Amino acid sequence: MSKNYRAELVGCFGNPIDENPTGVVEEAAFFEKGLNYRYLTVLVKAEDLGKAMDGVRAFHMRGVNLTIPHKVAVLQYLDELSEAAEIIGAVNTVVNNNGVLFGENTDGKGYLMSLVDEGVDVAGKHIAVLGAGGAARAIAVECALAGAKKITVINGNETRGQELVSLLNRRTNASAVYLPWKGTVDIPQDADILSNATSVGLYPNTDQRPDINYDTIRSDMVVTDVIFNDPNSLFLGEAKRRGAKTVNGLGMLARQGALNFKLWTGVDAPQELMMETLKKEFGL
Ligand code: NDP
Repeated sequence: MSKNYRAELVGCFGNPIDENPTGVVEEAAFFEKGLNYRYLTVLVKAEDLGKAMDGVRAFHMRGVNLTIPHKVAVLQYLDELSEAAEIIGAVNTVVNNNGVLFGENTDGKGYLMSLVDEGVDVAGKHIAVLGAGGAARAIAVECALAGAKKITVINGNETRGQELVSLLNRRTNASAVYLPWKGTVDIPQDADILSNATSVGLYPNTDQRPDINYDTIRSDMVVTDVIFNDPNSLFLGEAKRRGAKTVNGLGMLARQGALNFKLWTGVDAPQELMMETLKKEFGL
């Protein structure tokens, strides 16, 4: 009987990439499930993305994750897009189906799943989103597609904020409004969920927090953070002190890793193990 010595290849293309822990988490999951997959953490510069995507086909890689600065640029090399990825205009996961490259965005889906894990449903809710970058777009679009009633985009750069609002109003059933962010901003009092999707507070800047009026956080709000390192961000600490339920960025990261695992292998991911591996990598 012949033996297959060829591993299925997946990985991540980005720059910078050296400190991205996803490979350890995915490899632990492959090992746990007895799958002969390898996750390669690959330095790909902006100008080399086309060649790298040719490599995905040439090496018959099963798929890749894309991170900074490739999430938008990769669209031109793909054959198909999921509905969410098409609306968001960014892809973080590619699946190679026999040479047909399919793009998906699992950032926002991972976020939604991390909320479900905590018993939070976005349907019919008003979500206030801090930020209008890649993570904010993914979160806002997925919340809208999952039935959120209203989305308030709070962002410093008005062009970026208004662009996201207009996208949500055109392409989803949610009603979206832009709230300018100049100085300390008040959170709308009818918001059910407050979501920090800015990069404020990310390691090593763990002593920073978004400039909002923390006394406008109500105890019945759910307050979430994309920041996973440190998961105990100052932002969430302030919300907790005011009695709000909080959800950190670790669940979002682990959940999207699990979604990517399933997209590539077709096998349900060992979610607990992936979360534990992630925590270990962050020394938690
Ligand atoms: P982008 O660079 O695309 O967007 C950054 C956003 O943060 C912009 O809207 C920017 O506002 C805002 N911002 C930056 N600094 C400040 C500040 N001092 N005050 C107010 N707003 C600020 O980044 P991404 O959206 O790709 O990533 C955002 C964060 O999300 C990162 O920390 C990333 O690590 C995290 N992330 C976490 C994931 C997870 O699974 N937990 C998944 C993906 C991302 P402006 O438009 O005004 O410049």
